[in-house]
Amino acid sequence: MKFEAIAVENIPLIHAGDNLPSIICENIELQDRDIVIAASTVVAKAEGEIFKLEDITPGKTAFEVAARTGKDARFIQAVLSRSREVLVEKPFMLVTTLAGHTCVNAGIDDSNIEGGFLLYPPKNPDVSASVLGQELEKLSGRKLSVIVTDTNGRAFKIGQTGAAIGIYKVKPVKRWIGEKDLFGKLLEITEEAIADELAGAANLLMGEGAGGIPVVVIRGLDHYCEEETSIKEIYRPEEYDVIKKGLRCLQKKELN
Ligand code: GDP
Ligand code: MN
Ligand code: MN
Repeated sequence: MKFEAIAVENIPLIHAGDNLPSIICENIELQDRDIVIAASTVVAKAEGEIFKLEDITPGKTAFEVAARTGKDARFIQAVLSRSREVLVEKPFMLVTTLAGHTCVNAGIDDSNIEGGFLLYPPKNPDVSASVLGQELEKLSGRKLSVIVTDTNGRAFKIGQTGAAIGIYKVKPVKRWIGEKDLFGKLLEITEEAIADELAGAANLLMGEGAGGIPVVVIRGLDHYCEEETSIKEIYRPEEYDVIKKGLRCLQKKELN
């Protein structure tokens, strides 16, 4: 058994309005059931999610958080504008984004972008993945899956990994429940985080620096799925999320 991960080379620096699907198709011959994995950085650039701190006007909450944390109120405002809930303010802003993804700084980044500029992640990464997927399918005539990724830290462990933040025609988890182990015992709990594993594999070729590889194609693994899928399927329902509950308790204590 084996699969391939192929770095798509020769992608230029991406700017607002660039046609990412045609740029990808110019640089790789796609095949049926390829999984096209794109870093949120280039998806966001193409969508024009670029901004300058000077252009942000902080509101009351942003000033309050800034006073508590010593951070730039304009940056806080940018984070708040993309968040539905703040779970941790200090030493870093851990939030759940409007799209439901929980990450530091709402995924706002100033790396791999021209000096003085920052980048919001795509506002609705599932939609970004679908649009990219449909365009790529039109251009290539192939059946494809797409994953939009970002680099995220993890609870409990040092080191960031690629994570899926938007998907198209790929199931985000594989349910092993009901299948048997080597000894015939029924599996009762395990769900494998396929989309995140694929994102992690692609990130091995992307790296985090000046590599210039924002798109990777995974070939030889069959995770294509015809039905509509959403990354929201992997967000743990509120009532089972004990970590979030704990963080909310801590927040309340610290603010009182
Ligand atoms: P993120 O994980 O989505 O935040 O993206 P990163 O900033 O970690 O970048 C992932 C990869 O994409 C790295 O290899 C970067 O060098 C590359 N990259 C970022 N922006 C561009 C771009 O505009 N053009 C090209 N060719 N590569 C880029
Ligand atoms: Mn990022
Ligand atoms: Mn990255």
